[in-house]
Amino acid sequence: MARDLRFETAIAFARDLIRLPSLPGQEAQLAARVRTELEHLRFDDVWIDELGSVLGRVRGRGQAPSLLISCHLDAVDVGDAAAWAHDPFAADIEDGWLHGRGSMDIKGPLALITYAAAHGLESRPAGDVIVAHTVLEERGGWGMAHVMERIGSEIGAAIIGEATAGDVCTGHRGRAEVVVEVVGKAGHASAPDRAHNPIELLPRLVPALQRFADALPSDVALGRSTIAPTMIETLPRSRNVIPDRVRLTLDWRVLAGDTPVQLLDRLDTYLVAEIGPAAPFEVHTRIGVERQTTYTGEAADRPLFTPGFLMRSDHPIVDAAVAAVAARTGRRPATRPWTFATDGGYTCGVGGVPTLGFAPGEERFAHTDTERLELASARAVYDAYPDVFGAVQNAARALRDR
Ligand SMILES: [Zn+2]
Repeated sequence: MARDLRFETAIAFARDLIRLPSLPGQEAQLAARVRTELEHLRFDDVWIDELGSVLGRVRGRGQAPSLLISCHLDAVDVGDAAAWAHDPFAADIEDGWLHGRGSMDIKGPLALITYAAAHGLESRPAGDVIVAHTVLEERGGWGMAHVMERIGSEIGAAIIGEATAGDVCTGHRGRAEVVVEVVGKAGHASAPDRAHNPIELLPRLVPALQRFADALPSDVALGRSTIAPTMIETLPRSRNVIPDRVRLTLDWRVLAGDTPVQLLDRLDTYLVAEIGPAAPFEVHTRIGVERQTTYTGEAADRPLFTPGFLMRSDHPIVDAAVAAVAARTGRRPATRPWTFATDGGYTCGVGGVPTLGFAPGEERFAHTDTERLELASARAVYDAYPDVFGAVQNAARALRDR
């Protein structure tokens, strides 16, 4: 029986996905639904990995390295549902737009990119095409980190289905959550002389952090690395005890190639130079961690670090995608970085696999209560996908055989 790979059928699948909430760590139902669709489309292999990401393989002709195609299963919370003009889980279609949580980030693109990959089951691509829809992307990308550990070595190129509005996206800044902790000596608040209150170091520490932030490097394409202090805590939390620790949390947007070790090294060196030995206080820095549990029951303390990445805009993979889109649509797509972070930080930034983004949807609707996907432009991207996949995979093959 021939597969029904019409755009309308893919959108019906997307609507099913929107109706299934899938907060990070709670993707079980959605994963099962995606798996059923991959089986229904008769992907050659379909599996769910240890962390719960759903994968499907289209076997190719064995001439090119595997192409990885990825969206994520999780979606952010809807916030105040009453603020939405459309029920976030109704998947309404109105005036040519698909509405709801996940419509553009990322269930609409997930459905389309999956159906587009299924075209290869009819025509057989030069190499395998693997769709990998990951868990926990919105919490830093443990799902993709795991996928890359398992199958990264066979991947020649990756396409991420995060919203690009039909442009070709080539990277993004990463994000590090850094904790700066000042340790002093606790004591009864009635006898401050017997304690060392770490709050007293803040008038020197905060301006030093600001000067450090002001001097952070820039990248022509990605823009500036930035730091925003987002939280101050004292421990223990008691109003009549002098705390022994003050904890500052920094949201640090980092450039491609920055690693946690390098970032902390730079910050430590600066703080030592600026504040010197801060006796009787000690200043420690570290990457924040979060206990994460997958719906399959795996748990780990995950560093709150999402790597950045950046592809040259004249990289052969980028050139191939741009040419394929231009030939199909008659419009030469812009190449640019995303504003937000994606699982591409793991495929390219960590795994070194050439990676780009190509998908429908406008970034400005992501994580908002007006999330929506325009169907006409989504159809144009859907029509271009098979050509883009083929062109990128061929470019990966040429890179390998060079
Ligand atoms: Zn997303």
